Amino acid sequence: MNHSFRMPDSTLDRQFREIGAFDQIVDLVRASARMSVFTGAGISTASGIPDYRGPNGVWARQDIPHIKTIRTDREGRLQFWRDRREQYPEMLARQPNAGHEAIVRFERAGKLLAIVTQNIDGLHQRAGNSPDRVIELHGTTHRIRCTNCGRVYAGIDIQDRLEAGEEDPRCPVCGGILRGGTVLFGESLPEDALRTAVAVARATDLMLVVGTSLVVNPAARLPVIAKQAGARLVILNLSETPLDDEADSRVTTEAGPALAYIADQALAAETHD
Ligand code: ZN
Repeated sequence: MNHSFRMPDSTLDRQFREIGAFDQIVDLVRASARMSVFTGAGISTASGIPDYRGPNGVWARQDIPHIKTIRTDREGRLQFWRDRREQYPEMLARQPNAGHEAIVRFERAGKLLAIVTQNIDGLHQRAGNSPDRVIELHGTTHRIRCTNCGRVYAGIDIQDRLEAGEEDPRCPVCGGILRGGTVLFGESLPEDALRTAVAVARATDLMLVVGTSLVVNPAARLPVIAKQAGARLVILNLSETPLDDEADSRVTTEAGPALAYIADQALAAETHD
């Protein structure tokens, strides 16, 4: 009787392909001078921030408010601020993980053109990437904006006011209604961020797509733009994406360990060459 374990051929094939893919990705990073990283929720799950599209996501418990709710529905707005008062301290307590840290190493090595992110958690900046290299397509939870005059306030300052008992904080300058700094339902992506992201996609020589399944447009078009402009494309994600066939390399993986491995190999090799 044969008790030896035999993996299904498809699994073996995939594993061999992916070992080869890691070597290829290391070579691509080593050769790159203007790499970009396009991140989604998958890079932050290891920091304890749930993927809001997943079953345990924060937005499964509570919908992202509509911009009209914030502007015109006082009850809806009060609910938004109550939720924020409760949830923001959890967000502030989250720490970057090995994936964020690897991208900082790419920047310190002088390779990183920019990070384009769908995340609102601010963990790239907290990890140590320069804020001016982080393009936040969905805004950030760490800023609050006046709907009237456009002035921007630090999330922590508004948190202090909420915790001091304000239920419907207003702009201290113009008295306007305040809103979160993230993209709400009924809104398109911020134009300046999108424009910069497209410029990055056109200028980069290597785009690493990390932890996003690339299903949300127009952001999902960025890798296509990069590819059409001549960049190499690498996808590191736990599930398939619609662009897998376009990628030069693609690995089914958690973001953190994969990026740490790639940074170790690609950057160490450079110093010893
Ligand atoms: Zn104002």
